[in-house]
Amino acid sequence: MSIVLLGSTGSIGVNTLLIASHYNIKVEALVAGRNIQLLNQQIAKYNPKYVAIANREDIDRVNHDNIFCGDSGILELLEQTDSPTIVNALVGYTGLSPTLKAIELGRRVALANKESLVVAGEFIDMSKIVPIDSEHFGLWYLMGERPFSKLYVTASGGAFRDWDIKDMQRATFSQALKHPNWSMGNKITIDSATMTNKLFELLEAKWLFNTSNIDAVIEKKSIIHALAEFKDGSTTAHFAGVDMKLPIAFALRGKVEEEILAPVNLLEIGALEFLPIREERYPIWEIKQHLLDNPHLGVVVNAVNEEAIKKFERDEVDFFGMGKMVLDTYRKFDNIKARDIEEIIEIDREVRNYIIGDY
Ligand code: NDP
Repeated sequence: MSIVLLGSTGSIGVNTLLIASHYNIKVEALVAGRNIQLLNQQIAKYNPKYVAIANREDIDRVNHDNIFCGDSGILELLEQTDSPTIVNALVGYTGLSPTLKAIELGRRVALANKESLVVAGEFIDMSKIVPIDSEHFGLWYLMGERPFSKLYVTASGGAFRDWDIKDMQRATFSQALKHPNWSMGNKITIDSATMTNKLFELLEAKWLFNTSNIDAVIEKKSIIHALAEFKDGSTTAHFAGVDMKLPIAFALRGKVEEEILAPVNLLEIGALEFLPIREERYPIWEIKQHLLDNPHLGVVVNAVNEEAIKKFERDEVDFFGMGKMVLDTYRKFDNIKARDIEEIIEIDREVRNYIIGDY
């Protein structure tokens, strides 16, 4: 078995390589952004046939003879490879075109890049997607044959869940990066603080499991990842350690029969608590139902959210300013609907131009 790994130097990428080593899975190609030092270490260890990086200026620093550059370089690289599985662990909108290309080439996509589904779920063939997300892995694990009535994913509540709301107003980018339970890339950590990550996961679940009967609750210990409520009135929960290696192992292998994580210790966990997600703390939650009923608007939320995070990082908006920007822009574009991928790309561009220019 061999894989192509997009986003090898990120949090999911590094864990994927650990799982690849564990199962002796060959790595045909590595794709990274700017962390050339780590990429070179990965090249030395995994000996990929092809490599791609974000910027041509870095090409001389990469220890490889077969290097592609930029967004189009990732697509060219995919065309050269023949691994049946492409792991897409890129962050953000950049991940969309590689997902589409991999499917066009008939590959199976182990998809961490949830933005692909948020932006263009209705144009993506779900039969080719295996998600790498602990909540969706948990849902899949629970569902089986029985008819369910509702699905739940859990949220940690992010960096500010225990802060006073008035302090959140002044919170900085680096404070928002202090996730209470998970160590992840910057963007998803900010998305956890604003609850955007959970909103995206609801959309992801909508496309993967073909249901809008899905909601989220806060479970502060992040030990329960998902719950399924069945028509008979019973509810089951998926417990697992806070570690992405388990969903990654399943996504790569389909079946896992040996221990990947130590089982959870129930007595160490002690009490568990479920809390509602409140709009005053997480303003984006206001559009949850509208977005689930109009999932084609995911492209708008994703584009404005990515631009708002950049502004927050540059200190051009405050923490709640990001949420306001997302909600205002969502309302402005809420009658837009793409008929194909070309129109998705146009809408993405239009929303970003609006944020950069007119907003
Ligand atoms: P990171 O920021 O840690 O990693 C992103 C990866 O993408 C890095 O390898 C980065 O390269 C690479 N990259 C970014 N831009 C480009 C570009 N233009 N060209 C080529 N490579 C690029 O993110 P995460 O690993 O945390 O998340 C990845 C995806 O997985 C996201 O969509 C996230 O929502 C999802 N996810 C993450 C989870 C987690 O636990 N981290 C859990 C569930 C889902 P470099 O660092 O070299 O610049």
